[in-house]
Formats: sequence, structure tokens, C-alpha cells
Amino acid sequence: MNSIGVLTSGGDAPGMNAAVRAVVRKALFHGIKVYGIERGYAGLINNEIKEMSLGSVGDIIQRGGTILKTARSLEFTTYEGRLKAFQNLKNHGIEGLVVIGGDGSFRGALKLYEEFGVKVVGIPATIDNDIYGTDYSIGFDTTVNTVVDAINKIRDTAFSHERTFIVEVMGRNAGFIALEAGIAGGAESIIIPEVPYSIEEICQKLIKSHQRGKLHSIIIIAEGAGSGIKLGELIKEKTGFETRVTILGHIQRGGSPTAFDRILASRMGAMAVDALREGISRGMMVAFEKGEYVLKPLEIAFSGKKQIDLEYYRLADILSI
Ligand code: ADP
Repeated sequence: MNSIGVLTSGGDAPGMNAAVRAVVRKALFHGIKVYGIERGYAGLINNEIKEMSLGSVGDIIQRGGTILKTARSLEFTTYEGRLKAFQNLKNHGIEGLVVIGGDGSFRGALKLYEEFGVKVVGIPATIDNDIYGTDYSIGFDTTVNTVVDAINKIRDTAFSHERTFIVEVMGRNAGFIALEAGIAGGAESIIIPEVPYSIEEICQKLIKSHQRGKLHSIIIIAEGAGSGIKLGELIKEKTGFETRVTILGHIQRGGSPTAFDRILASRMGAMAVDALREGISRGMMVAFEKGEYVLKPLEIAFSGKKQIDLEYYRLADILSI
């Protein structure tokens, strides 16, 4: 393979830059030309393609976001759109494509392979960590750390004012961010979409804590499980306790990636280039599973729904008593 392309697509995630850097530098090390495609599939259709050098990925390993920018493209979901994208790849002599993004981006990548034979490798990157087939996706660890940092700060004021705080976190339809950050931040209750919950039980737990003399609490709610604001109102209504709600919002998407995410991104980026060099015959994805980096067929990413570890959830409940 003489020439490859790399793009970031879908929702951004801290560590995407580290992955772009790894793809570019590993490819150049092996004498392969690399093109950076800006704004994901939208840029591929609009021919926003530029050749990358060692220097063009300098000083980005520590930066959140993505220097290649990211976008969502309706046009790419049509055959005509993908044909334009393919023609641009062909005109640049790009033989293989590394797609850094979530499962939506992987679905698009697989179509490029199925319809035009483009060799594609997906690198999982999403703060939600909901991509099936990989234990970790780039960005998740950084986001969990951002949320834990926020919980620490909120706990200071919760303690001082003896209040109940509700912290609403991202995660789309999944509760991975809420669960990990809730455990690490010592949240008193964690509400996630995967596990049914009862307001009554949460209120009872709060009342019992109060009776024991614990006058402040932090409840984490994943956005997919409901509204933090509504939850705050309900708790106040049922217990009479003062509640405050913090919706963490987009600070969860930004920030300098953790060492874990940088290493994950560097290893996955290098592995994606090796897969293309070794001549994969189909669309593949890089995954991190049980401590190992592995290559898998791309369609595995959307062949199932990633499950929460219920043991882990129960542990969180035990520890928060
Ligand atoms: P993510 O990759 O973070 O899951 P999206 O679901 O928004 O983000 O997908 C990113 C882009 O991938 C979309 O804007 C679209 O261009 C492309 N895409 C998603 N699903 C498909 C599909 N089924 N067929 C073709 N392209 C798709």
C-alpha cells in the first residue's frame, strides 16, 4: 500500500489527535503517503484532502478535539454522496482509509468497502464508550476523569452547605460514564438507563443517610436515564431536602486527554496502519479487549449492544451506603 487517508468523524473525543498523530507517523515511518481528510465524510465528499507530514501532527498529542475537525454528513448516507467520496479517494490515489469515530462512522466506512472495495480500518473513539466489541474507546477515560474532577468540586460545596446535588452526565443511551465516574467519585446513587430505578428507593436512601448524620449527597444521573432537573424537583418534593442540579454538558467532551487515552490512541493508530500494510481483505476495526489490542471485522461494532457489568453496578451501590 502506497497511500492512505485518515479522518475523524461523528462526535469528537479527547485523544482523537493522538490517534491521528500515530496514524500519520507510523505510515510515514513505513514510507506510506498519508492524506488528512478534514470534516469527516463531509470533507471527503467536498475534497478537503491534504497531504500530511511529520510536522503536521507535531504538538497535538496533548490537545483535545481533533485538528482534522469532525462533522456529520447527510450526503454520505446516500449512494451518490459515497460515490463522490470514493472518486476523491481515487483521484488522490488513496488505497486505504482509517476512520476514527463511533459506530455511525463505522457503518459509513463499511459501505465504502462494500460498494467500492476501499480498504477501511475503524478506530473506536467516543466519550460514551458504547461501541460494541471493544472494552474501551478513545476519549472515555478522559471524560470520566473530567466528571470525577467536577464531582470532587461539587462535593466540597455539597458538604459545606449540607445539600443534595444531582449531577447529570453525558453518555447518550448508555450509562458507562455515569457508572465509572460515580464509583470513582463516591456518588451516593448512580442512575443509568440500563438499570430500572425507583425514586422512592433513592429518597429512602437519602433519608436514612440523613438520619445517620450524613447531610450531603451526590447523585449521578446519565442523560439517557432522564432529566437531572426533574429528578431534583422530585427529590425535593418527596424529602423536603434542598437540592441543586448541575448539568455538566460539553466540558465533558473537551480537555487534554489522559495518559490512558493517549496510549490507547497511539497503539490503535499504529495497529490500524499495520492492518492496511499487511493487506486486509475487508473492513476491519481495532479493538481493546481484556487488555489486548485485536483486529476484528468492522460490522462487529454494530452487531450488538454493549452491556453494563451488573456486578460492578451492585458494588457501586454497596460502597455508597
Ligand atoms: P458516530 O460515528 O459518533 O456514531 P454518527 O452516528 O453521527 O456519529 O455518524 C457519523 C457519520 O457517519 C454520519 O454523519 C454519516 O455521514 C455516516 N453514517 C452514519 N451511519 C451511516 C450509514 N448507515 N450509512 C452510511 N453512512 C453513515
